[in-house]
Amino acid sequence: MARKIVFPGSFDPITVGHVDLVNRALEIFDELVIAVGENSQKKGLYDLETRMDWLRDVFSDEPRVSVDSFEGLTAHYCEKVGAKFLLRGLRNASDFDYEKTISQLNHIVGHGLETVFLISAPEYSHISSTIVREIIKGGGDSSKFIPPQVKV
Ligand code: ADP
Repeated sequence: MARKIVFPGSFDPITVGHVDLVNRALEIFDELVIAVGENSQKKGLYDLETRMDWLRDVFSDEPRVSVDSFEGLTAHYCEKVGAKFLLRGLRNASDFDYEKTISQLNHIVGHGLETVFLISAPEYSHISSTIVREIIKGGGDSSKFIPPQVKV
């Protein structure tokens, strides 16, 4: 059976750090679904459709990657699409502290759903969508941090 993993996140916008994580996960898994979480409480800088279009563009040459969106619990979404694994990245200790609890909860709520963590590559560990948004809002050059398909 194909090993399928879901990579959930905001991707507001996708960064080169996300791309690296996806490419590394594809060495381990057969299929990867990038699932953009819709959060009605938290409006992103870019709307959902724009974020999804960029993701599709970036991975247009990789048939094993698909892009979707979801509302509600990540664990329920994984059940819906038949994935037993979740992908998350770890850049530093604060990522770990946050992710540890979420992963333990997802294991219970998701009936054994396993979170697979990949440690960020050193050259990308300073990159986050939050920082990229700040650079964009401040009128700076964000091109080093985002894939070329993302036209901000
Ligand atoms: P969320 O709002 O759910 O944290 P993000 O889009 O910010 O969504 O991030 C999605 C996932 O990608 C998270 O697990 C995050 O740790 C990981 N990630 C983000 N940037 C990097 C990076 N530079 N290197 C490795 N992982 C990263």
